[in-house]
Amino acid sequence: MQNPKHPVREHIVVVGAGFGGLETVRGLKGAPVRITFIDRRNHHIFQPLLYQVATASLATSEIAWPIRSLVSDRREVTTILASVTGVDAAHKHVLLDDGSTVPYDVLVLATGARHAYFGHDEWEPYALGLKTIEDATKIRRRLLLAFERAERETDPEVRKALMTFVIVGAGPTGVELAGTIAELASETLPREFRNIDTGKARVVLIEAGTRVLAGYPDELSDYALNSLRKLGVEVELGQPVNDCTAEAVGYGDKRLATRTIIWAAGVRASPAAEWLGAPADNVGRVKVMPDLTVPGHRDIFAIGDTVSVVGPNGKPAPGIAPAAKQAGAYVAKVIKARLAGEPALPPFHYHHEGSLAQIGKRRAVSDFGWIKLKGTLAWWLWGIAHIYFLIGTRTRVNVAVNWLWIHTRNHRSARLITQGMPNGERPAVPQANESSTDLK
Ligand SMILES: Cc1cc2nc3c(=O)[nH]c(=O)nc-3n(C[C@H](O)[C@H](O)[C@H](O)COP(=O)(O)OP(=O)(O)OC[C@H]3O[C@@H](n4cnc5c(N)ncnc54)[C@H](O)[C@@H]3O)c2cc1C
Repeated sequence: MQNPKHPVREHIVVVGAGFGGLETVRGLKGAPVRITFIDRRNHHIFQPLLYQVATASLATSEIAWPIRSLVSDRREVTTILASVTGVDAAHKHVLLDDGSTVPYDVLVLATGARHAYFGHDEWEPYALGLKTIEDATKIRRRLLLAFERAERETDPEVRKALMTFVIVGAGPTGVELAGTIAELASETLPREFRNIDTGKARVVLIEAGTRVLAGYPDELSDYALNSLRKLGVEVELGQPVNDCTAEAVGYGDKRLATRTIIWAAGVRASPAAEWLGAPADNVGRVKVMPDLTVPGHRDIFAIGDTVSVVGPNGKPAPGIAPAAKQAGAYVAKVIKARLAGEPALPPFHYHHEGSLAQIGKRRAVSDFGWIKLKGTLAWWLWGIAHIYFLIGTRTRVNVAVNWLWIHTRNHRSARLITQGMPNGERPAVPQANESSTDLK
């Protein structure tokens, strides 16, 4: 018989402390449950500003927070640092990489997505993707090392290649990276180098489609293209990339010598669908039911970037933070309603609040459907919205001060070349005698 003083609480296991998982845990506050929160990293990342870490504008701790600290006031939440490798749905267990298992009554999978290379995984060492803090610091390292090496390079062709930065994919991340790298090269670095004019660095944005920011209305996409060109970014449209090596990128019938390629095109969902043998779309996203349960598993929910969900309006929810957060909040409500014996909730319906992208200083676009903005006003909105969505007052103040410094003095303080040469990373100039120290 149940002891009324210590009622048996449903055990909810949430895998993934990104936007979706964190919102689920937040939404379950006050519910008669105990929660196990599992992530393979010890921090939650604000991915929309990852590119600012990659371009030395912000420090890592300004866009990431320890997961434990985010749930420290929730006694019913236990945090586990581990990688999930599978789900035993028959026995209701989650499998961890150390061989142990975690039982669940209800499971929420919020394991996100990674970048994908359209079947060319061999490009990964040369074309760096941006998804984690490690990715961002690796890109930062490669960018800064390329300038350092160019400063000492005597061969003009190699120097040119070192000072050519290629970004593949002109979605919001590609556009933001290209604009910021152009500003870093032309505004922040010139006074610090003696042998090279960093302002002459080439930033080349390559896109297979015919527009930059293809998800935005034509007018905003045209504005973004013009703004990029004013910043000196060379934009190559309608050019699918067909090769990436340590020394060049191939696209269309062209080949461009470069030592730095950044990949901002294409995603692949986490293996959640494979863990469950669930139906998936062509990029591996679980095709969930309208209430975000996995087909055939009433007690397993999947949310965010790792799922494909079509709303009652027939439109798919996009792979962006608000969609993951709304799904997390919805699942928490479904779980609470079930526990309270209340009727089932209506299907999940994603509500689009608007899109914002920054191109450079005082250059941004915002699309709220009913109103479209570009230029300085859109840039202010972008800045205020991003500061608002950060976690904690200290971070908000730090980021605002950093942006003020960048804006008024072109000063980017996070220009640190750190870490040895991580496994698999190719040096900016592949050299047989390169050591793990930063500079030759
Ligand atoms: C560079 C970049 C810029 C972006 N910019 C914007 C933007 O401007 N606006 C916007 O709205 N959206 C943006 N997005 C998209 C947005 O960040 C995602 O849509 C959102 O993070 C999805 O949330 P999620 O919870 O599904 O996954 P995520 O936030 O990716 O979280 C997944 C979590 O699961 C964990 N995990 C994964 N696999 C395992 C495993 N096997 N075991 C344990 N833990 C695991 C990960 O460590 C991670 O913490 C951007 C994304 C990127 C990469």
